[in-house]
Amino acid sequence: MGISGATSVAGVIGWPIAHSLSPAMHNAAYRALGLDWVYVPIAVPPERLGTAVPGLAASGIAGLNVTIPHKEEALALASSASEVARDIGAANTLIPDGDGGFSADNTDAVGFERAVDEVAPEALDGADALLLGAGGSAHAVAWALRSRGCRVTVANRTPERAKRLGDVIPFEQRAVEEAVSSAGIVVNATSLGMGADEPPPELPLASIRPGSVVVDLVYSPGGTPWLRAAEAAGAVVIDGRGMLLHQGAASFSIWTGERAPLEAMRAALEAPSA
Ligand code: NAP
Repeated sequence: MGISGATSVAGVIGWPIAHSLSPAMHNAAYRALGLDWVYVPIAVPPERLGTAVPGLAASGIAGLNVTIPHKEEALALASSASEVARDIGAANTLIPDGDGGFSADNTDAVGFERAVDEVAPEALDGADALLLGAGGSAHAVAWALRSRGCRVTVANRTPERAKRLGDVIPFEQRAVEEAVSSAGIVVNATSLGMGADEPPPELPLASIRPGSVVVDLVYSPGGTPWLRAAEAAGAVVIDGRGMLLHQGAASFSIWTGERAPLEAMRAALEAPSA
């Protein structure tokens, strides 16, 4: 469907944004359902966020995703927020509020849950979970883990950031190894392993129990070396595309009111250029 005066415009704001897979995923969803929508990447430097967000709201944009490094500030700029966005302290989805502003939501937590549930349906229920990292995405993952009754242990290079998320252990090889040995699910929410050739030594997996679930939020084509090491050790592995897919699907449904065409979106993420 071509772009016309009636086309609804949605997009994603971040800095940088050129690497984002969200435009391919959302435009594939519009095509699959024949919706007259288009989704564009919008590069917004941090010092311009405070003018860009009200400007985009005033321009009548139909929906916005928010990515690194704007998620916390986007929440502060919204006129209202869902309980989950307030609890996590960050927004990844902005919805026109009908009054020239945006209301804020966060679909990262539900995206994480659905990504795990579709591969390992009962893995999240009441599990011992080890969370590596305490940044924005770790906050969403911790919220999802707690909401499913997991006992959350967390290790982060900067331990002060981890305090709200669970029982903090040192970000040291021995302590992490011990926690890995008793965890039913291990999640890497650090940016370690991005573009690496070898599994990062800071995230040891040698003691993983076969059958435990290992999730890497970092995505690279063919899987990260860390995730491949987990698979070789007998773990059930889930890469970062699952969460990306399901957070996007949830945002899509909020804006359009339609059920997301998951397979078309998944195929767009698996295309060779993705
Ligand atoms: P963030 O808020 O910047 O947090 C980064 C995290 O990585 C912090 O815990 C940080 O520790 C840790 N870290 C960074 N460099 C490190 C190093 N050299 N050694 C040890 N720890 C290090 O980023 P984020 O938004 O949480 O994203 C984290 C990762 O998840 C990124 O790779 C991102 O692409 C990915 N992600 C994927 C999805 C998805 O849908 N698949 C969604 C969101 C994010 P400190 O606190 O000590 O700095």
